Amino acid sequence: MIGRMFTWAGAMVMASALPLAAAQAEVPSASGAVPAPLLADLNRQYDQIISDLIRITETPAPPFKEQARAELFAAMLRDAGLPNVTIDEEGNVLALRPGTQDGPVFVVSAHLDTVFPEGTAITVTREGDRLMAPGIGDDSLGLASMLAWVRALEHHKIATETAILFVATVGEEGAGDLRGVRHLFTKGEYQARISGFLSIDNSDAARIVRAAVGSRRYRLVFKGPGGHSYGAFGIVNPMAAMAETVRGIYAIDVPTEPKTTYAASIVSGGRSVNSIPDEIVLEIDMRSSEPEALAALEGAALAAANTAVAGENAARSVAAGAVSLDMELIGDRPAGSTPADHALVVDAVSASAAAGFIPRLDASSTDANIPMSLGIPALTVGTGAGGGRAHSLDEYLEIGRERFIAGVSVGLGIILAQTEPSAP
Ligand SMILES: [Zn+2]
Repeated sequence: MIGRMFTWAGAMVMASALPLAAAQAEVPSASGAVPAPLLADLNRQYDQIISDLIRITETPAPPFKEQARAELFAAMLRDAGLPNVTIDEEGNVLALRPGTQDGPVFVVSAHLDTVFPEGTAITVTREGDRLMAPGIGDDSLGLASMLAWVRALEHHKIATETAILFVATVGEEGAGDLRGVRHLFTKGEYQARISGFLSIDNSDAARIVRAAVGSRRYRLVFKGPGGHSYGAFGIVNPMAAMAETVRGIYAIDVPTEPKTTYAASIVSGGRSVNSIPDEIVLEIDMRSSEPEALAALEGAALAAANTAVAGENAARSVAAGAVSLDMELIGDRPAGSTPADHALVVDAVSASAAAGFIPRLDASSTDANIPMSLGIPALTVGTGAGGGRAHSLDEYLEIGRERFIAGVSVGLGIILAQTEPSAP
């Protein structure tokens, strides 16, 4: 990544722009900086942040089994200085830091769950300025960053006009289908008061996600009579209908703008090598940042499946029974966006630039999908100094002190800009 070289003295960022950075001159660099005492506080917390990060990462949080990490994080939030920490019916951890005014609540959130199943080795190892473990950046770092911000706000007795609701969500990844954040906005105690939402996810403090990629995911179950591969030869085969479905989906033309995608991702079924199967299951994933394009793709994909089943029932004998198709919606993440000129986006760009990064706007599927789809201003931003290989067993995180703390400061800068802080 082409970045700016910078050195650090309190809040002073001395940016000596590289040639490419000149093109970013329109990006504000002075406003959005975290005040010097708070920045110094984060810097002082470096060792604590790293040890929090390790503790969180080494507490397992497989999909639908986030409870141990939720309880740990609730205790850590209390230790950080927030007395009223609760875990809601869905499993989200909530802690309200009251504002000087009643009313709107600004949510700062990170997700508890990882993509890794129970039993995955999650011991953190260190090599120089690199920490390695599954889930360390996605999203243990988001949780550890929140703790650092709470301690800094508490230590400096920063009062904000707008209340801040710190949240650790369940079910952000995969089959979790945003269940935690969905609960927060549809049934949660604060749902009617949330005026803005900031999700902290992954380790790239230059990446500002202001568009929500929506997805629709299906499990397609093809059933047939089944029979002996030799003796019953000639009867319909659900495997053939599944294969034709995949072929049909991969013939669908999708727009590149808005980026619209599909994947046939999991297939299972069959009894033995010498049996015509009685059941085949296919899972498909479809995505777009625009609801209309997603709906069009979904219609075409499901039509391809119906056509494939009809084709199979016409092509072979249905004397023993026909192939049937059952479509189960297993993933539904709504699309949406926050306008690029909204104050939340502008503040995020400023905070990232002030910390020495070259901010860029992006689209992704995150906890922010739900508020964006409801028209509530929302963003997802990274924190820290970068990393890589998220969702893999060799996930890693860069923790070189200066840039790491600069990256961790970005979220705090956005929070301060959004909540009207005042001196005690
Ligand atoms: Zn994540």
